[in-house]
Amino acid sequence: MRVLTSPPEIQSVSREWRLQGLRVGFVPTMGALHDGHLSLVSRSREVCDRTVVSIFVNPIQFGPEEDLDSYPRTFEEDCQQLDRIGTDCVFAPLTRDMYPASSQTRVVPGMLARGLCGSSRPGHFEGVTTVVAKLFHLVAPSVAFFGQKDYQQARILLQMVEDLNFDLELRILPTVRESDGLALSSRNRLLTESERREAPTLHRALQEVERCYNSGERSADRLLGAGRALLAEATHLREDYFEIRDDAALEMRAQLGSGAVAALAVRAGATRLIDNVLLGDAARRLGQG
Ligand code: AMP
Repeated sequence: MRVLTSPPEIQSVSREWRLQGLRVGFVPTMGALHDGHLSLVSRSREVCDRTVVSIFVNPIQFGPEEDLDSYPRTFEEDCQQLDRIGTDCVFAPLTRDMYPASSQTRVVPGMLARGLCGSSRPGHFEGVTTVVAKLFHLVAPSVAFFGQKDYQQARILLQMVEDLNFDLELRILPTVRESDGLALSSRNRLLTESERREAPTLHRALQEVERCYNSGERSADRLLGAGRALLAEATHLREDYFEIRDDAALEMRAQLGSGAVAALAVRAGATRLIDNVLLGDAARRLGQG
């Protein structure tokens, strides 16, 4: 496995592969890898000839009060895991090479970035679209793989690919969970014991919303009420938002249609956790069903 840090180097390696007619798969990450990340890498290995994984904790997607400094960094272990599952290349650039002092251009997302995590984390998605656009230019993949766990991010990136004519296919894969339902996240390792014990409540609350939706309930208020009743049992989790939106435009609806996403963000002490569940036709529309 090659480990590259220089942007021109990854660009030329990837160009070489494309000239040989190979399909390049790409998995962008911030490291501290877990089985959720590895599921994306494995899928890339299945459907592409070469797989590139980037590890870059992107400073411009963190707000001034956020956890950039305490974000977990486990580079050596990450590389060992990636090597073991057959990754061809890790791209781990330095911040100064991604954002030299002279850099000033940003990719600004539209309506999809308003609300949900966009409200709690101003500027976050602009940081994400900017870094992903840069990485897409450097790696020039045929297929890029993202997780449904960050559903709003995935929707925004699908829109960016369409709006800016990136010549690649974006695939959104299902959320990988612990056996108790907690969505795997690099931030889970920051939870205290009591926070970790209660963290699966996110998934249980979302499952309750799904159960009610599947039994015919279409009132967003009543569905959220059912989910919140469960969430209220967790004393260490403080709701940041709990919303149900249509799965495509991410707009709020009082009465839900054939596809929706229930999305939840909580604070557990200093750690922020998010999760979501797709309702109705939403999973099929994402190419998962
Ligand atoms: P991150 O390192 O948190 O930026 O995540 C990198 C990629 O892994 C993103 O596309 C995430 O949506 C995806 N991801 C994170 N957690 C999970 C999970 N539990 N299951 C599947 N994909 C995930």
